[in-house]
Amino acid sequence: MSLFKRDKNLNPADASGQNSALAKLALNSIHDGVIITDKAGIIKFINPAAISMTECGSFENAIRLDYGLLLKLQSKEGRELSENENPLIQAMKTNQPLENFAACLIGVSSGKVIPIAISVVLANDSQGDRIITFRNITKELAEEGEQAEFISTASHEMRTPVATIDGYISLALNPQTATIDERARGYLSAAQAASKHLGKLFQDLLDATKLDDGRIRPHFVPLEMVGAVKQIADAQAVRANEAKISYRFGSDDPATFSDTRHIEQVVYGFVDPDFLREIMDNLIDNAIKYTPAGGSIYVNVRGDGDRALINVTDTGIGISSEDIGHIFQKFYRADNSDTREIGGTGLGLYLVKQRAEAMGGRVWAESGFGEGSTFFVSLPRITGEEYEKRMIAVRNQQALAAQPAPTPAAQPAPTLAAQPAPAPAQPTIAQLAQTPAPPAIPAPPPVTTTPPAPTQPQPQQIINQNGGTI
Ligand code: ADP
Repeated sequence: MSLFKRDKNLNPADASGQNSALAKLALNSIHDGVIITDKAGIIKFINPAAISMTECGSFENAIRLDYGLLLKLQSKEGRELSENENPLIQAMKTNQPLENFAACLIGVSSGKVIPIAISVVLANDSQGDRIITFRNITKELAEEGEQAEFISTASHEMRTPVATIDGYISLALNPQTATIDERARGYLSAAQAASKHLGKLFQDLLDATKLDDGRIRPHFVPLEMVGAVKQIADAQAVRANEAKISYRFGSDDPATFSDTRHIEQVVYGFVDPDFLREIMDNLIDNAIKYTPAGGSIYVNVRGDGDRALINVTDTGIGISSEDIGHIFQKFYRADNSDTREIGGTGLGLYLVKQRAEAMGGRVWAESGFGEGSTFFVSLPRITGEEYEKRMIAVRNQQALAAQPAPTPAAQPAPTLAAQPAPAPAQPTIAQLAQTPAPPAIPAPPPVTTTPPAPTQPQPQQIINQNGGTI
């Protein structure tokens, strides 16, 4: 016997009429905005929540308009999105679904901006209709903000005791300040590696929360990308060399790429040099970590339409197809016998993605388990003319700032070492890796010591940025 009683008197045509009335009722009563368009993007239906969020006034006003006139989006950071960077336009153009893209919706009448998560699905009909749904995420962001604030404060506070622990261990490991036997040296070296790992974890957490809530924002400057990326990558060559990994920067590498597009180009970008450095340091650091001795790393930059395309290629352990879709998520680490021994926080690629996206860029990986990996970063590219124009603006700014004002022609082009962009409030990952954390040092701990104690600890061991062993 059926649990559900059917109304035998209801004919199928009536049932379908009732269903569509019910569907309409449901759409009219929900808080999420719903817009249905035909395959050309012309609006066929809009529910009251969408009318209110887009500020279009009424159902009649919206019908037969192009969806783009109502759904004007900005990036989360409040930056105008070009057509290429706007996933909604791309999804509508290419018939691809879009899931929960976080952006800001600009109201058509007041210009008021509300944060939304927007999705697009293809309607299950023969006409190729699209269903666009979006919801106001102001409350979610506020809750996330509180959580981020907590993580950020906690990480900030915890860095201080970790730096102190690191300082004491450095004192104990320094033959000028302490006498210890070889066994104790082994234990303390392991403790120091762990405290460095912890320090790196807190720094990454702090950076991740600051990037999430927009406290770290990119400062864009015109940059000649090939030279800039080469400078960053070359600085890591020594570490690759120490790990017995060969490093190459440049265009053609027949062994790695047979692609004829790899011709030396002058590629100009409009990027944040600090963000670029963090991205490259992280990708090259990973390439070194996950490539066994005897392998090789290849870095290149080329122009690809309106994008500057960077690749960091290695011949290392590679990434399985199950893991590759997750590696840019927070704390995700591929778990296999090769990676288990390699230290890391699982935050590096998340930070790479955040920084690339904050600059209007994209990052992705191509790899197979045991086949090496290539990480691609595509960033906004500008023409030579735009570069010159923006450089003039930069020089003018520099000239204004300098006292007495020098002639613009005498000003050097911005370099990675001296950019006009303001320095970030927090030390960057690269700076942190280069600079031993200066703990507040009280008297040396009561281990076997040889007075007098120095005022600053000298780190005995330099380990890689991610605090891991290669
Ligand atoms: P981690 O600190 O663990 O290196 P990341 O976020 O930088 O964190 O990387 C996430 C995971 O992606 C790593 O744990 C590793 O499994 C994988 N991975 C990243 N880069 C590479 C690479 N070049 N080769 C192989 N696996 C990599």
